[in-house]
Amino acid sequence: MARYTGPVCRLCRREGLKLYLKGDKCFTDKCPINKRNYAPGQHGQGRKKLSEHGIQLREKQKVRRYYGVPENQFTKYFAEADKMEGITGENLLKVLESRLDNVVYRLGLASSRAEARQLVTHGHFEVNGRKVNVPSYLTSVGDTIKVKENSKKSVKFKELVENHQGTVPQWLQVDAESMTAKIVGEVSREDIELPIEEHLIVEWYSK
Ligand code: SF4
Repeated sequence: MARYTGPVCRLCRREGLKLYLKGDKCFTDKCPINKRNYAPGQHGQGRKKLSEHGIQLREKQKVRRYYGVPENQFTKYFAEADKMEGITGENLLKVLESRLDNVVYRLGLASSRAEARQLVTHGHFEVNGRKVNVPSYLTSVGDTIKVKENSKKSVKFKELVENHQGTVPQWLQVDAESMTAKIVGEVSREDIELPIEEHLIVEWYSK
């Protein structure tokens, strides 16, 4: 299934919560969910009580939308997570967190995962010294992510580094001056602060 390219605020309204897909706008009064927290469309205001199956489906869709992952790719990630040692739901989140676009977002170089995806696609990053422009590239412990030399000179990246706020998760180590980051550890469940009940996704796929 292709990536959704329609109005993203509808996705938040569909899930009934903020998915933070629009960067800075999500933190302002302009966020539509503040005024219209009901599903979009003609029957949106008549939200029905969901079945168990429906709750599981919504959780899966919510996580897919948080990370901006198409359905077929999400299913592959689940299969991969299921083969890994440990708790499948947590493994799934760890795989999602290791995507290069998410790493760029977590480094604070983009205001949303969508913006991070665009920066990666435009070829601004190297992983272990090689240009990578694939947002779904899965990073590993020990990888070094660096802003490309040409991109470093751009006003955009200079501003990004100067205005950088917030902390990065403990599995990332940043050297702002050289615009380089290293993955220094495994993602832990505590590092993922999104309101996710991953066991519901496991139940969905276990049917
Ligand atoms: Fe979602 Fe952000 Fe749009 Fe609000 S502004 S509805 S949080 S994408």
